[in-house]
Amino acid sequence: MKFATLSVNNQPVVAKVDENQKAYIPLLAGKEAISDMSWLIEGFEDLRAKIADGPAIPFASATLLAPIPRPRRNILCVGKNYFDHAQEFARSGYDSSASSAADAVPKAPIIFTKMPEAVVATGTRIGFPDKTSSQLDYEAELGVIIGKAGLGISKAEAMKHVFGYVIINDLTERQIQAEHKQWFLGKSFETSCPMGPWIATADDVDEKNLEVQCRVNDELRQNANTRDLIFDIPTLIETISRGMRLMPGDIIATGTPVGVGIGFSPPRFLQSNDRVDITITGLGKLSNTIA
Ligand code: MG
Repeated sequence: MKFATLSVNNQPVVAKVDENQKAYIPLLAGKEAISDMSWLIEGFEDLRAKIADGPAIPFASATLLAPIPRPRRNILCVGKNYFDHAQEFARSGYDSSASSAADAVPKAPIIFTKMPEAVVATGTRIGFPDKTSSQLDYEAELGVIIGKAGLGISKAEAMKHVFGYVIINDLTERQIQAEHKQWFLGKSFETSCPMGPWIATADDVDEKNLEVQCRVNDELRQNANTRDLIFDIPTLIETISRGMRLMPGDIIATGTPVGVGIGFSPPRFLQSNDRVDITITGLGKLSNTIA
């Protein structure tokens, strides 16, 4: 199943996605429209038998919000989780986490977060952090949505905690990232976390074999497969939940593959009116233009 959040009369409405009919089917709990994706995820096992379909809304007449428009907690993110990207990042001179080329590929997952307020929908225009910033870069990533809470989750149990998957663009201001020698300030400004268009549930997705592609103005920049993740999803869930309780609706952005703007020489940063399109097998297309 696929679930989207729409804006209907300026109110969020959670809907099933029917790609064949090109329509969204708003979900009802009793007579009430479901408005909160986090609530649906949290109660899904009980709710799935009870939810009813509302009247369909054609794709063309709907406005999409991010599937979780305002996550309850920070988005958890993984740095340098594809081998070739770890190499390009170390070579770029922007990577303060590697002291040498030999240190480029991490031996344990690197985790940072983005603010909930950074999340925006497909179609939203992306801003720069401020007037002085000019080194905006894209990062196409598979996002994992947690369905079931857990602390100390083992790799063997990890996939039972996954609700579904979504496309994320981990937008980054490279100058700020380099200057401040950490991965928060340059990745958490408003509009820096496009997410969408919708969530596909775990039973619909073979997460070990997904094509991840990113195009800038139709030029293919990133083209990879999730089978090449250095640390797979069970390893990430085990690592993060060691001392921190994962909660329903938490999102883990699993890292970006090779082909980001700083991988080029000279770097190719995003410019005003550039369009960034990210596709992942079965998860649709996330498309945003730079303001
Ligand atoms: Mg990233």
